[in-house]
Amino acid sequence: MEVRIDSDLCSACQLCADLAPEVFEIGDDGYAVVLQNPVPAEFEDDVRDAADNCASGAIEIIE
Ligand code: SF4
Repeated sequence: MEVRIDSDLCSACQLCADLAPEVFEIGDDGYAVVLQNPVPAEFEDDVRDAADNCASGAIEIIE
């Protein structure tokens, strides 16, 4: 699995970094950045959870 953030959509709510802190971080500008691509298998469920709960639809998963 790979994951991308659409920074045009991200609202900087920080939810993804709370749900999957090993994969998402909030950058200096307040918007989410991806730390690990491809996503390690043990964090895939957390990333799916973050994508499902991102109200902005900014998290794209590529299987
Ligand atoms: S959950 Fe979505 S809107 Fe919130 S910081 Fe992460 S990518 Fe941005």
